Amino acid sequence: MPVTGSCLCEEISVTVDLQELPQPVVCFCINCKKSGSTSFSIETVVPRDLVQIAGNPKIYSDTATASGIPMERLFCGTCSSPILSRTPLNPDNCFLKCGLFEHPLTPPRKIVCDARKESWVNVEVAPVEVPVEVAAHL
Ligand SMILES: [Zn+2]
Ligand SMILES: [Zn+2]
Repeated sequence: MPVTGSCLCEEISVTVDLQELPQPVVCFCINCKKSGSTSFSIETVVPRDLVQIAGNPKIYSDTATASGIPMERLFCGTCSSPILSRTPLNPDNCFLKCGLFEHPLTPPRKIVCDARKESWVNVEVAPVEVPVEVAAHL
């Protein structure tokens, strides 16, 4: 039974051909903060060929990356929900935004850009259940 989610207005739906989402990653980078207008992003690294998107997300080419290689940020043009991001640095995977999915999430396995975490945010990292390769996020 695949995992399904959607943006807020439900124009875009996402189907992941897995029984459950892989353990998420919490990212405090400024790009994720701004793209979601929030304090951090919760995403899960999923092989691109397991993700199906119904609808037509807009794509923002985020060039403000440390590597200089643009990262594509897909979002809903109607309700603005971030959908996923992807980079040529990690061509097999995408960073899928966990907030699209209503079912419970497992605790995160990793924090990215910890230095940009606000002092009042406390995220507990759980042991890695299934190792998944994470490329440089930016
Ligand atoms: Zn939407
Ligand atoms: Zn980030």
